[in-house]
Order: sequence, then structure tokens, then C-alpha cells
Amino acid sequence: MSRNDTHQARKRFGQNFLHDQYVIQKIVNAISPTLEQTLVEIGPGKGAITSLLIQNCKELHVIEIDRDLVALLKNKFLHTPNLQIHTRDALHFDYCSLVQNNKLRLMGNLPYNISTPLLFHLLENSNCIEDMHFMLQKEVVDRMAAMPGSRDYGRLSVMIQYQCHVDALFNVGPGAFTPAPKVDSTIVRLEPYTDKPVEVSNTQIFQRIVTQAFSLRRKTIRNALKRMLGEKQIRDCSIDPDLRPEMLGVEDYARLAEYMAKQERL
Ligand code: SAM
Repeated sequence: MSRNDTHQARKRFGQNFLHDQYVIQKIVNAISPTLEQTLVEIGPGKGAITSLLIQNCKELHVIEIDRDLVALLKNKFLHTPNLQIHTRDALHFDYCSLVQNNKLRLMGNLPYNISTPLLFHLLENSNCIEDMHFMLQKEVVDRMAAMPGSRDYGRLSVMIQYQCHVDALFNVGPGAFTPAPKVDSTIVRLEPYTDKPVEVSNTQIFQRIVTQAFSLRRKTIRNALKRMLGEKQIRDCSIDPDLRPEMLGVEDYARLAEYMAKQERL
């Protein structure tokens, strides 16, 4: 039996290993790497996607927290000079340090338990990132891609869509993994904007407004934001104060944040 077969999946690291070759090929096709590109894979696990990816790019960096899996990967890819293995926590990794000439292309079948904080960490480094292809819990991708007025639209949708173009690509059922997770998964493509469609001068204020609004999503925006902005101020931003937070688009939240930022400067 190879070392590959003896590794026990660790729940605390969100380990669900892909075994379906059709799905793996479909993911690599969606990324469509070229032989001149440098890619980064977060959480390579036993190297199921890594094996195919490495044949289709110039250089591949993989970031894996589980030392047993790193040992297994080092063994499996012993004679692969274009693979760099980093035994690190992806949540604290300095992605921009890997950039040489071109921006990075990131991908990963992400551990679901850290997916949201990891996405926010990556978005803080989005100036070094060309695009990201991630396998995530379907429910999370639904929230990321949701449009105003829909049930799934909320803080995550606004914060991600402010920074990236979001494309939900295809779903993957639990049977593609070992062990099988209890939920469906979706592959999502995120492309950070170089020129954002709307831009705010103070992202902390933007974040505060969005968080406050969706913490009271059943109320009107007037009531949800009453500690931050008055009715007249909301109207001054060309927003009907009787709307619910889920009816406002990214550009509406950006206008509210700009208004508040100006007031704080006065
Ligand atoms: N890519 C492999 C596959 O598709 O079969 C494994 C995917 S598994 C869902 C998630 C992987 O991320 C595991 O290998 C796990 O050890 C690793 N991981 C979990 N938390 C991590 C972290 N904070 N930093 C880096 N890797 C992590």
C-alpha cells in the first residue's frame, strides 16, 4: 500500500479529497493555464489536481498546512523541479511575495471551514492576483454571486462583488470526494478588478455600513442604518429609505460610504 492510501482525512483541516478524474479535468480546463504561467494551488492535499496542473504550466507553488501531506507530496513529486511546496497556513501566507513578472493565478479545492476568512485575506492582496478558481460549498458561491433582491444576497455578495467579477462555473456532487462531504460544491471564478466599477475612498466605512445594514436585513435601510445615517442623508444619496438592505446594489452602498466618509472628514 502506498503512503497515499494510508493518510487519514483530518476533519480539522477540512480534508475531502477529489478522486473523480472527470471533475479534475473539468477544473483544469476551466482554469486553462498556459505553459508560460505561474500558478498557486491552496491546499493540494494528496496532489489530485496538482498532478494535472503541473503538466500545464511553467511553475506551480502549492501551500499545504498538513505536514504529513507535505511529506507525501514531496515523495510523489520528487522529480518535479517546477513545483515549489510551501508548508504554511494559507490564511497567513504572503501571496505577493511569489510574484515575479506577472500577476498570480490562484486555485484550490478549499477547506470549507476557512473559506470566508481566506477569501478576505486574498482580496487584501488582490493587486497581485489575476484570477482565482475555487471549489467552495455551493451555498457560499450562491451568496457570493447573488444579485440584489434575491434570498442569498447579503454582506458576502456586496463585499466580494465590490472587488471582483464573480462567475459561478459548475456544481460538483459529494460523490466526487473521499470522504464525501454532506454538501454540494461549486467551482467559482473570481477576477479582481484592476479598475473597479465603483470605488470608495474608505473601505472600512464601506465594510461597516454593509455589515450594519445586513445585520438587520428585515428592516428598512432607514432603520438598519439609523445609528450611522439619517433619513435625509440616505435620500441625499438617491436611495429610498423605505427599501430593505437586500434591495440596494453595490453602487448604492458605495454612495452611502462616500457620504459618510465625507461627513467624518468635516
Ligand atoms: N486539493 C486536494 C483535493 O482536491 O483532493 C485537497 C482538498 S481538501 C478539501 C483541502 C486541503 O487544504 C487539505 O489538503 C488540507 O490539509 C489543506 N488545508 C486546510 N487548511 C489549510 C490552511 N489553513 N492552509 C493551507 N492548507 C490548508
